[in-house]
Amino acid sequence: MADERKSEMEAVMRKQRAAHHQMRPEPMALRKDRIERAMKLLTDHGEDLCKVMAADFGNRSPHQSMITDIAGTVKFGRYCLKHMDKWARAEKRHVQFPLGLLGAKAEVRYEPKGVVGILSPWNFPVNLAFGPLMQIFAAGNRAMIKPSEFTEKTSLLTKELVEEYFTPDECAVFTGGPEVAAAFSELPFDHLIFTGSTATGRKVMEAAAKNLVPVTLELGGKSPVFMGESADFAKAGERVALGKMLNAGQICLAPDYLYVPESKQDEAIHGVWQGTANMYPTLLDNEDYASVVTDRHFDRLQELVADARDKGAEVIEVNPGNEDFGGTNARKMPLTILKNVTEDMKAMQEEIFGPVLPVKTYGHIDEAIEYVNEHDRPLGLYYFGQDSNEREKVLTKTISGGVTVNDVIFHVSMEDLPFGGVGPSGMGSYHGVEGFREFSHARSVYTQPKIDVAKLGGFKPPYGPATEKAVKTMMR
Ligand code: NAD
Repeated sequence: MADERKSEMEAVMRKQRAAHHQMRPEPMALRKDRIERAMKLLTDHGEDLCKVMAADFGNRSPHQSMITDIAGTVKFGRYCLKHMDKWARAEKRHVQFPLGLLGAKAEVRYEPKGVVGILSPWNFPVNLAFGPLMQIFAAGNRAMIKPSEFTEKTSLLTKELVEEYFTPDECAVFTGGPEVAAAFSELPFDHLIFTGSTATGRKVMEAAAKNLVPVTLELGGKSPVFMGESADFAKAGERVALGKMLNAGQICLAPDYLYVPESKQDEAIHGVWQGTANMYPTLLDNEDYASVVTDRHFDRLQELVADARDKGAEVIEVNPGNEDFGGTNARKMPLTILKNVTEDMKAMQEEIFGPVLPVKTYGHIDEAIEYVNEHDRPLGLYYFGQDSNEREKVLTKTISGGVTVNDVIFHVSMEDLPFGGVGPSGMGSYHGVEGFREFSHARSVYTQPKIDVAKLGGFKPPYGPATEKAVKTMMR
């Protein structure tokens, strides 16, 4: 069965590649038209997509979905339309003296790679498929998408809509479970972008390596929040709460754990508690608050909390409405703060990806820096405080995919900043000019002048005094 699906997908890939070759060079207007169609698809069917996302999650605010998945992605398309002519311009490069005088020329052309595969996750199912698609199209490629099986209704509607707005040799969607995803990752694409967990990312890279397919891996990890002594803990708490509660913490960039000064622990926790209570006075019937996506994911989060409690953590549930979460199957979970956490707890070992927030304390900020450096390089890193020396110390002594200062997550929303991880949190990036280049091949073109440069430079046998002179000049 998986073999059959693989052949079917491979046939589409080959058709896309053949069409791509046949139509090259494609005018910029056609690339733009594809982006405009993707934007129109989202504009025309944004509400339908929000409805199916809500159905997939159990509950997910249409307002939230509209911002995070629809409007944000349409806006990103517009940003690409505005900048792509500049991005796609060939760049003149320097040629060594005296070649320039002799008429030699060097330039870099950013050319399409061909067919790009997109493997996307469930947490922002529209944004994380269509976001990369905008830049894949901007760079002049074709695309094949395999969306997540966990948001099945969204994946099916995405397929239907893509079939309406695109020809199959421009863009095609394939639905199915992990077997189909695995088969998809084995296709000899010209590039593959995967967004998902580090564990699956490893498998994807292994599969891609067999065909030497270049990959962009947008993975996860434990993104720490450094709170400095000088932080405004009420404001910081509210911002952390907003970032942690959005999509019920199911965000790759969600603040995973807090690192706070020992003497400020209670103030910091109170800030998060109050910030959460202000935005979500109740949770169960609150449309603004998302459910955990599946029972399996819900059970995993419960298990993280139980494990921490068993090993001595203090568990603080932020439940301002005193609601009974035990008697519901809505998979809603209140923000659960874990105090006195230790390294043997699962909550400190795996990415949380839900509304659970461990809090660690430090005597000196160096301890927090050292802790982060001893662990996998995170996708995001956050610093709260007004002390610029301390901020620079945290930034210059740690490594992470990106950083937001005095807030969380926001750097991803800056269209002009590259977004990506480093090491176990990912490789490569998109957004900004970097995204366009990620999906382009930087092709070097050198034009030789009429004069016999090899002879002039002493590179042409028979070797002799001219060669020796050239060597001396090169070594000087
Ligand atoms: P996941 O790794 O379980 O699944 C992602 C995709 O991989 C799905 O489409 C799935 O069908 C596919 N897949 C499953 N098995 C596969 C296999 N053997 N080979 C190839 N593909 C396979 O991730 P998820 O649970 O959907 O998403 C959550 C994770 O994604 C978190 O770790 C989160 O941090 C990360 N994430 C990262 C970003 C980012 O931009 N860096 C964004 C969102 C989510």
